Amino acid sequence: MARIYHLVIVGYGGMGSYHAKLLKEHQQIRVVGTIDVLEEKREASLADGYKVYESLTAVLSDPSVDIVLIATPNDVHKEIAITALNAKKHVICEKPVTIYSEDLEDIMRVAEENDCQFIVHQNRRWDKDFLTIKKIYDDQLIGNVFHIESRVHGANGIPGDWRHLKAQGGGMLLDWGVHLLDQLLFMIDSRITSVHANLSFVLGDEVDDGFQAFLTFENGCTALVEVGTTNFIQLPRWYVKGTRGTSIINDWSISGKIVTQNLGVEVVAPKPIQAGQGLTKTMAPPSETAIITSNLPEIESTIESFYDNVVSVITEKAEPVVKNTEVLRVLQLIETIFKAAEKNEVIKDFDQYK
Ligand code: NAD
Repeated sequence: MARIYHLVIVGYGGMGSYHAKLLKEHQQIRVVGTIDVLEEKREASLADGYKVYESLTAVLSDPSVDIVLIATPNDVHKEIAITALNAKKHVICEKPVTIYSEDLEDIMRVAEENDCQFIVHQNRRWDKDFLTIKKIYDDQLIGNVFHIESRVHGANGIPGDWRHLKAQGGGMLLDWGVHLLDQLLFMIDSRITSVHANLSFVLGDEVDDGFQAFLTFENGCTALVEVGTTNFIQLPRWYVKGTRGTSIINDWSISGKIVTQNLGVEVVAPKPIQAGQGLTKTMAPPSETAIITSNLPEIESTIESFYDNVVSVITEKAEPVVKNTEVLRVLQLIETIFKAAEKNEVIKDFDQYK
């Protein structure tokens, strides 16, 4: 019979309780308890049927606990992770794993010393919109992709309490930025050659309420990654250009399309159109026969689910889908983006990727 792993959630807030919900049906991971510093969250945990541990020490001294899942604000991830690993527990940690890359390096060292697994929940590698773009990129469905725009736009400002505070690892670059950059680096197998960025502080917080980062990769691809929290009109989630066409995905419902050049017809010079107070041939839309509009490709996810992969990594030392070296590279990129924005400089030669 397959082994059942007992898991305790540290931080039973938005994401902690979401994990509990997702794990309800899991065959091999069972949530057995939680800890939280707030009484109302402890009550919520009891109401949901999970034991409440008095302290982290109580969790770590319980030999029946195999995995600790950290879903607290970002500033305490490191301390909890290192304490749990030193107690020989496996650890799943929410993103951003730590605020600084050096802290992740410390955690990786301690995980290795204790021969325990440390896995970061970069769940947006499994997002359908991302996997659709990855298929377009990998299978060259619009030719060679040379430019990618990846955006999320909201109009609700920075949510919650701790996300407004620098000391707790708040701000949008560390929040949504870590997802969008992780997706991009997971997809593009090439070294980043330069970064430029600007951060937005229009809401008056001490942390960024959004950002734009411009990346150039050695393979010639460029990317604009943008997060906004004051966007009352949203731009599409993805806009991608290739040598033979363009693709767009509007939102998480995966509405969008691919438009490619029709290679089967002779190219006819476009006719000038009236544009404002002038004429243009350059910006005239292509004739109907010059293009082919297609649906986005269907994707069958071939990667193991996050939790199944955690079990495989713990049980058989399988390769993690989310590798700590990849998470480290994303954190180093985030540090470079902060630096590029602060100095208003293009930063080159920082990426060690081979
Ligand atoms: P939240 O504020 O809703 O919940 C955090 C909980 O941790 C709170 O209940 C708080 O009382 C508790 N807490 C704080 N310090 C603690 C400590 N020392 N010990 C135990 N409990 C403690 O925040 P959230 O939105 O759930 O975010 C939690 C983590 O999850 C963050 O790292 C965040 O970036 C991440 N997150 C990830 C995703 C994702 O898609 N992967 C989505 C949202 C949040």
